[in-house]
Amino acid sequence: MAAVEARSGTAALPGMDDVARTVTTPEFEGVTFHEVLCKSALNHVPESAALPFAWTINPYRGCTHACTYCFARSSHEYLDFDAGGDFDTQIVVKTNVAAVLRRELRRASWQGDTVALGTNTDPYQRAEGRYRLMPGIIGALANARTPMSILTKGTLLQRDLPLLATAATTVPVSIAVSLAVMDAELHASLEPGAPKPAARLGLIRSVAEAGFDCHVMAAPIIPYLTDDEASLRRLFGAVADAGASGVTAFPLNLTGRYRGWFLAWLTRNHPALIRRYRTLYGSSGRASPEYRTHLRSRVAPLLAEFGLATDPLEEGPYSLAPKRPARPIRGRLRVEGSSAVAPAVQGELF
Ligand code: SF4
Repeated sequence: MAAVEARSGTAALPGMDDVARTVTTPEFEGVTFHEVLCKSALNHVPESAALPFAWTINPYRGCTHACTYCFARSSHEYLDFDAGGDFDTQIVVKTNVAAVLRRELRRASWQGDTVALGTNTDPYQRAEGRYRLMPGIIGALANARTPMSILTKGTLLQRDLPLLATAATTVPVSIAVSLAVMDAELHASLEPGAPKPAARLGLIRSVAEAGFDCHVMAAPIIPYLTDDEASLRRLFGAVADAGASGVTAFPLNLTGRYRGWFLAWLTRNHPALIRRYRTLYGSSGRASPEYRTHLRSRVAPLLAEFGLATDPLEEGPYSLAPKRPARPIRGRLRVEGSSAVAPAVQGELF
């Protein structure tokens, strides 16, 4: 049974809406949910971000998938939480997000631009099993003839495939699955709360069988741990076999405040790599151009060998500077009654 602490009307999270209540429950040991009533659902992405979509929705802040390399960790500090353990365990839930979204989509000014989900935290993290926010969001977007793009590691998306297939009969719907680590031990250490690689391969298969093109975000590639030819071959072969249509891959970035969290993990688990990472990343936080060229030369032939498309909107399979097209990106699908357009491209944000 859930333990509930009422905090009605308390502005407990800086920059966020008031916390209606906080909840802990034995099903989610060590996790605290902060249920808030949000004032807005749609977030506008500034042009200066140079991202290929203009609108996002994040029903949750923080993510129990707890990926060590997650760039979104830094954003938790705006809520006065830390970017480490708090990001994994202090989860903000916008319980009214679908109702607020419906109101925003009714505005005369709404032009039906594509909305991206999964750009900051995973909309199908475990909390979605409890709160079921996504069906309302999908329904609201479909009713407003608004294309949508979803990127996730969460197998919970399978629950909503029938709904997404129905939505795809009226609007473009793009689905991408994030999977970059196949080794079981490394996955458990790097992404301790995320579904196992085999489960995500099953998700890719389900998405493809539901009639969608399933793009795979094979990112980040972790230098010296997942970038060898055998690891990449295993990954691309597995996703191709599961029915993926294409892959986007790019190396780990360490440009944000999450850098410290990742490097602490590296120090604990692979201390011998610290010196090589210093050389590779320098002060920029980006892998050196030489490394990226080297990785590209390793990845490209493998993608070709497995018949996997790369992202046509990027300069290469792991461009580090995707540009927003003249119009926000539209999702792609191959469901009857809709047109095939570009794949999900949230990669730089995930
Ligand atoms: S990388 Fe994605 S799935 Fe992993 S913790 Fe961050 S938001 Fe969650």
